[in-house]
Amino acid sequence: MKNQPGQQAPRTPSALKVNKGIPQPSSLNEQAAGNFRLRRKPELSAETYVRGILDGDRVLLSRAITLIESSLKSHYELAQRIIEYCIPYSGNSLRIGITGVPGVGKSTFIEAFGKHLIEQDHRIAVLAIDPSSGISRGSILGDKTRMETLSVDENAFIRPSPSAGSLGGVARKTRETIILCEAAGFDIVLVETVGVGQSETAVHSMVDFFLLLMLAGAGDELQGIKRGIIEMCDGMAINKADGDNLNKAGAARIQYENALHLFPPAASGWKPQVLTCSAIQKTGIPEIWEMILEFKTKMQAKGTFQSRRMSQEKHRMHNTITETLKERFYSDTIIEKMIKEAEDKLAKQKITPYQAARQLLDSYFNDNKLR
Ligand code: GDP
Repeated sequence: MKNQPGQQAPRTPSALKVNKGIPQPSSLNEQAAGNFRLRRKPELSAETYVRGILDGDRVLLSRAITLIESSLKSHYELAQRIIEYCIPYSGNSLRIGITGVPGVGKSTFIEAFGKHLIEQDHRIAVLAIDPSSGISRGSILGDKTRMETLSVDENAFIRPSPSAGSLGGVARKTRETIILCEAAGFDIVLVETVGVGQSETAVHSMVDFFLLLMLAGAGDELQGIKRGIIEMCDGMAINKADGDNLNKAGAARIQYENALHLFPPAASGWKPQVLTCSAIQKTGIPEIWEMILEFKTKMQAKGTFQSRRMSQEKHRMHNTITETLKERFYSDTIIEKMIKEAEDKLAKQKITPYQAARQLLDSYFNDNKLR
């Protein structure tokens, strides 16, 4: 905590005037907070976490995810041990990515879809990837009013997007969270992302089925959804197919189906389907689940389900190497100093960017061997 107890946090201009010199009472019950901190102090062992997770203990699952998300080295190491123990118990879920522009109805859809899955005796975990949430303080899944019924269902576990770091960092944390959720017995994992940035590629690389939610009546502009995202989806659902929008949704379905036919067929032989649904009226939801099940059955029969996961694992290994190298390099204190010097030389045109980069890399890898 940056502020001392009783000290006021810097305030943005507010309609509520605070008179100078009048100390404001702390909004925190310090004694209770102290007890809480004390209670939380003794860190549990990796084995305790794992036992709890395998028993389906949601509190321990949440706490382990907090360790994954933490920037503390000791937390990171503990989290890695927990993940390693959990890996043999993971991999048994169906992982579904869900994307679409803000307002398309993602959280309303996940609420309806999640309920439908629970009715079929599934246990679902809902995760999110939103690299922007560090700035906007959780623009997706952060809002407690979202997914109201699902969030209190004992067969659902909802976790907002990890809020800090680069897309690579956020994606890694979500992948690790998937492992823990699977070990905790959630057999369907939904990963939500906003369909506007590069986060779709990250989600696509960690799910078995990628569902794109769309709206009708947006013409040919594909609603700001990039062509690449449409190309990567395994299925599409035109949401808000209700009321006056019903006919338009039907027309959009045909339009998108035609658009999808223009893409080269996937190596798996799967042809992405376009369906319509109303997340509010809960229509078209079972059909979407049927489509996903059909995909799973067909892909498993062909072996593509497993091979897609295998190539995701390879991609993950390479990604981890790249991320780790980058992180170690930039956090090296000698390199940090050298970078500043190189930037000065660059500004004075005493060196080219390539020479500077080569010198820095040589210094890191050769002079200091593997630090
Ligand atoms: P998100 O930003 O993609 O998560 O979208 P939300 O789930 O928050 O939904 C955005 C708005 O669309 C909300 O006002 C919802 O009530 C509304 N909405 C979501 N699904 C439907 C639907 O199937 N039909 C209609 N008519 N409105 C919907």
